[in-house]
Order: sequence, then structure tokens, then C-alpha cells
Amino acid sequence: MVKVRFAPSPTGYLHVGGARTALYNYLFAKSNGGTFLLRIEDTDRSRFVESSVPDIMNSLKWLGLHWDEGPVFQSERAEIYRKYAQKLLDEGRAYKCFCSAERLAKLREQQRAMGIKPGYDRHCRDLTPEQIKALNDKKFVVRLKVPLEGQTSFTDALHGKIKVQNAELEDLILLKSDGLPTYHLANVVDDHLMGITHVMRADEWIPSTPYHILLYQFFGWEPPVFVHLPVILAPDGKGKLSKRHGATSVLEFRKLGILPDALLNFLALLGWSPGEDREIVSLPEMVRLFNLKKVGKRGSIFDFNKLYWMNSVYIKGKSDDELFALSLPFFKDYGLIKSETDEAMLKRIIPLFKTRIRTLSEFPPFADYFFREDFTVEEKGVNKHFKDTAVFDTLLNVKNQIERAPKFDAQTIEDIIRQTAEHTGVKAAKLIHPIRIALTGKTVGPGLFELMEVLGKDIVLARLANARERIRL
Ligand code: GLU
Repeated sequence: MVKVRFAPSPTGYLHVGGARTALYNYLFAKSNGGTFLLRIEDTDRSRFVESSVPDIMNSLKWLGLHWDEGPVFQSERAEIYRKYAQKLLDEGRAYKCFCSAERLAKLREQQRAMGIKPGYDRHCRDLTPEQIKALNDKKFVVRLKVPLEGQTSFTDALHGKIKVQNAELEDLILLKSDGLPTYHLANVVDDHLMGITHVMRADEWIPSTPYHILLYQFFGWEPPVFVHLPVILAPDGKGKLSKRHGATSVLEFRKLGILPDALLNFLALLGWSPGEDREIVSLPEMVRLFNLKKVGKRGSIFDFNKLYWMNSVYIKGKSDDELFALSLPFFKDYGLIKSETDEAMLKRIIPLFKTRIRTLSEFPPFADYFFREDFTVEEKGVNKHFKDTAVFDTLLNVKNQIERAPKFDAQTIEDIIRQTAEHTGVKAAKLIHPIRIALTGKTVGPGLFELMEVLGKDIVLARLANARERIRL
């Protein structure tokens, strides 16, 4: 029976890299009829960030990655880890280290000066029982007693066999002087006690895994299968994706108006391929198709443009009602929706914008002119299309014709504009651009005639009439 876990440390927001790890664990569990556990690794109190646990859980929920078990908080299990540390002490697999912080700092300094790799010098490894007794009142940590010879190896499902010489390893700390475990001890004890069959995590943990293997050996436990996932690379391919490249937190993408299904789809493809060059894959399909054999071991580049493209595909795939519900909070936040009339307007413009927006957050500023008169006017458009001020007279001409026309629908409007262009001897485009700017302030947007119909006759007439004041040259 497959059982996996997502085990974040609550040291900050949920990074998209963490979300992808969670997703792969989820997919692996679901595609094997297994269980997905959420475990919060919060034993390092110095790095604990209060807002982190809700951020992580809200991010997972928003993405739809629902866990079957947990959340388990390691901070509530300190007794268990102490018991296992004691077991290692009793069996001579670990030892108490009484070295003070000052001694260790000095040691590091000396090592640096001598140009050798900093690390613990095993000063307390061979203390006699009498020496320990004499020290008993002093604070201590528990360290792993790494074998001095031989090697430790494991087989990673993606990377194959990984081997290290034990001489390269350190006697690292398992239990700190505050009685709380380090990541290594708590992680191994929990993975064993919780029956985790596969450990899928970022490949930055590969150097820690030999220590974990030693712990499994010392406890006499069977290690899980390890799957170390490649990092997500920055857009330039150089190094890890980080804040300086743009948004990296899941909830930041929510704020930008990325849809959860689009983000999941995008993250899934950063390292996994569903085959047949498919790019758009829903979560249930991912579950059906997910296969570790199709997970690569090289890092994938986080291409923001691809994410935006994918988001636009998901936006197009929504029904008008769904898109209305998704867009409404963005319009409210932007201050455009204050009444039921505004809501009705949003409903009407959804079909006009559905194929034109990439994110929900760009929608309100792109459509502000449907809700307010003081919309901004793009200077570059004005400079381009109003060079010849005679265009204002043409706008008035169009206004008069529209005013007189018996109907006000997209087709009638189009006929009027095309006829006016013909009579004045200019191309229709020469008219369409300035009219668009006068009515919307923008050089791009939905089809002009349709948007005019939705704006309504009164507003169109008024904006054509006062174009000269709005577009001060
Ligand atoms: N707490 C570790 C982290 O935040 C978990 C690593 C693991 O999955 O073993 O990355």
C-alpha cells in the first residue's frame, strides 16, 4: 500500500517548488490508490514563522491538493523522538556531546584558518561513562555515531545508486539541547512510524539521505524508496527560481489571477511529461497518467510566459458564469464594482474579454472604462492617432450619425463607421483607432462595435462629444 507525505518546514510561504513536490506526492498516491499525508516539520523553533502553517494549508487547499491524513505537527511529538534518541544512545549508535557553542565556534574558526572543511571534531565521541557522569549537569546534544569506515549507499528511483564514503560524513546532531529533534531524526522516525513507502522530495536533500540510511540501519528498519526531484530553475536557466525572478509563492499567483487548475497543470509539467506532447492536462487526467518513469532528473525552467499562456487557455475554458464568479473579487478589489448595476455590467463584458485576458488581475484595469468615466488614456495611442486634429470633427460626425440611427447594435454601428470612412475618403482603421481611444482610452481591447453596443448609446455619444476635452493635446 503506497503512502507518501508532504513534509514542509513552516519557515515561510509555500513556494511553487514546494507545491510541485506536494503535487507529485499527491499524484503518486492517487495513481496508486495510496494515501497522502501532510506533516508539518516544525521542530526548529528558531526558524518557525507563525503565518506559515496557514499559508501552506491554504495554498494546498486552493490548489485542490487535499490530504488524506494529518496535518501532523512534529512539535507535538517531542517525547517520541527523545525515546528513539535514547535508544540509539543505549545501543552505542549515538553519543552525548557537551561541547559549548564557544568551543564549536572556535573550532570552526581554526578549521577555516587551516583551510579544512568545517565540521565537528568528535571531541565527545569517546568519553568514558565516568567522564559523562562528571559532566551530567551540563547541557548536551545527541550526535549520530557515524561509522568511521565503510560506505553508505541507497538507490534513488530517479538518480540510481548513490554512494558515499562514511569518512566523508559528520557526526551530526540528532537531538538539540532544548530536547527537540533535528530534522534528520524526526523525519526518519516519522517516515517509519507513519508507514511512508516513498519519500519524494527536492534533490537538495540528497546529501542528507546517507545519514537517514544510517539511521534506518541503526534502528533496524526498512528504508522507504527515495525519489529526489529536480529543482525548478530560474527563467534564465541559471540557478534556482527565487523571489528576484518574480512571484514564487502559491498565494502570490492567486493574487495575480492565475487559476489553480492552470498553476497545477503548469507545475506538473515542470519535470514530468504526460506523453504525446500533451500540454493541457486536468488533475484527474494527471492522476490517470502519472508515472515516475516519466519524471526527469534534470531541472526544468520556470517560464512565466508559458504559465500566462496556460492560464489564458484555462480562462477560455471556463463558462461565462464561472468566469464571472472568478473575476468578481478582482473587480471589487480594484474598486470598480460598487452596485448591482456594476455586477450586471461585468456579466455582460465577460464574453468580450474571455479570449483576451491572460490573468484575472489584468482584467479590471483592461476594462475600467465600462465602470467609470475617469479611465486613463494611453498617451502613445493619442500621439499616434490624434496627430491630425481634424479627427475630432470626424468623431463628432460619427456621433451625429449614431444619434440619428434608429438602432444601436454592433452591426448598425459598424455600418455607420464604415460609411463615414468611405464618405470622408479614409480607411475604416483610420477611424476605428481614434474612436476606440476616445471611448476606452486604450489602443487594444475587444471588438470595437461589440464593446460600443455594451457601453450603451448614451455613454458612447457623451464620450464622442467630449473627446476633445478628454484627449487634451
Ligand atoms: N521539512 C523538510 C523540508 O521542508 C522536508 C524534507 C523531506 O521531505 O524529507 O524540505
